Amino acid sequence: MKAVVTGLLERLSATLSPGGLLVGQDAAEKAVSSWSRMGTPLAVARPTSSADVASILRLCGEAGVSVSPWGGKTGLVHGGQADNAVAISLERMTAIEEIDAIGGTVTVQAGCVLQTVCEAVEAKGLSLPIDLGARGSATVGGIIATNAGGNRVIRYGMARDSVLGLEVVLADGTILSSMNHLIKNNAGYDLKQLFIGSEGTLGVITRAVLRLRPKPASQDTAFVGCDSFDQLPRLLRHMEAGLGGSLSAFEVMWSEFVELVTTPPALGRSPLTERYPYSILIEAQGASQDRDSERFEAVLAEALEAGLMSDAVIAKSQAQRNAMWELRDDISQTARNWPIFTFDVSLRITEMESYVAEVRAALRATWGDAATLTVFGHLGDGNLHLIAGVGSRTRETKHAVEAIIYGGIRDRHGSISAEHGIGLEKRGYLSWSRAPEEILLMRRIKALLDPHGLLNPGKVIAAEEN
Ligand SMILES: Cc1cc2nc3c(=O)[nH]c(=O)nc-3n(C[C@H](O)[C@H](O)[C@H](O)COP(=O)(O)OP(=O)(O)OC[C@H]3O[C@@H](n4cnc5c(N)ncnc54)[C@H](O)[C@@H]3O)c2cc1C
Repeated sequence: MKAVVTGLLERLSATLSPGGLLVGQDAAEKAVSSWSRMGTPLAVARPTSSADVASILRLCGEAGVSVSPWGGKTGLVHGGQADNAVAISLERMTAIEEIDAIGGTVTVQAGCVLQTVCEAVEAKGLSLPIDLGARGSATVGGIIATNAGGNRVIRYGMARDSVLGLEVVLADGTILSSMNHLIKNNAGYDLKQLFIGSEGTLGVITRAVLRLRPKPASQDTAFVGCDSFDQLPRLLRHMEAGLGGSLSAFEVMWSEFVELVTTPPALGRSPLTERYPYSILIEAQGASQDRDSERFEAVLAEALEAGLMSDAVIAKSQAQRNAMWELRDDISQTARNWPIFTFDVSLRITEMESYVAEVRAALRATWGDAATLTVFGHLGDGNLHLIAGVGSRTRETKHAVEAIIYGGIRDRHGSISAEHGIGLEKRGYLSWSRAPEEILLMRRIKALLDPHGLLNPGKVIAAEEN
């Protein structure tokens, strides 16, 4: 095998342009991420074009060596771990090829960082409505490969809803170019959907056409306090109906989360004078600042009058709006309860209160005062993030906590992964959210597109099932 790998690395090095292949210490340094285990790759290949990616896949295929695509390495389920594999880093494929302001599309290479694309289209009066905390590092390819969600899903949908066209290199080196620019295109199967959310297991995404929206001319943000959970879904529906489709965020923070992000060493301060069991960041984006702000205030006032909330503060400046979002985004504070386990699940809003209460009670029943639970999430999308601490992080405690968190989700027919994907982290629990027939079809699709199991093996579906 050593000779095979040496021969492969020589061929890759000869095929790629200078700097196109990192080995040894250089490869090890590239494999560092604050968020994800990247493993110990045999080498890191750095293509500059789809043709390069095709060559890498052909050469690796001939040598029987597996590959793992890498974007910004911000994935939270270890989906890029590349042991005994060649990592394909898209970091040199960052071109913004075209911004079509009339058609409302941007064409980009997959290694382009989200924030860079957003800033480029905003400069042309347009908006790419995908937004997440990792915007400064996460790439277009990684975001599509994980079908990322984020802060504006309630209005614009998941990453999938912003993808019009895709170019993907298949395991055998075929370049599948479906660079569609049209919103309506029902000419046969919509093949790009297969690759969106496939976490690098079915092909390497190299280019994309993304749908743009007009840049919002108005933004209104409020920080709201609620005393009881049953106010939340009613408040959500009230805001949706009252704002006529402009609601763009409805982020709920349970009291423990607000406590953490507003006590030193955290720098944040709650805009509300009282503490509430639930705090909500509500945002609307529209077309006319004066008219929209008036409407936003009126709809909030109606909610207060109807008893759907207990208090609200409206941001009066960009600085106040930023401060509200900084509270919501300061998730690193949850690590103060270390050791912790983090979860990203979704379930019906009507089941959330009982679910969180059940999880809290089960953690306390087993770990007593050592148990902590911090909850926040994109409630409008049915998505909760739970951070559980039980005083230790052994394999056994991890499994015991997962059984509690995912068991409640399985019982409620929710999803064990709302937005982060399955990767290596959750593959043992896939069957808790998916029917056997669904998993069988996933395995068949995988076998069809990657018959030798060389594309990001072991991710999503356990290795023996690939
Ligand atoms: C602070 C923080 C906040 C976050 N917030 C959110 C959030 O709100 N919503 C959300 O959904 N996620 C969130 N994430 C998770 C992460 O940012 C997303 O999963 C993101 O889409 C990963 O992009 P990336 O470029 O870093 O991909 P990577 O981490 O490099 O890769 C992720 C997966 O995609 C595959 N992949 C990467 N590039 C390609 C490609 N070109 N072709 C095929 N497969 C590829 C990898 O093999 C891996 O399986 C957050 C992460 C952090 C650190």
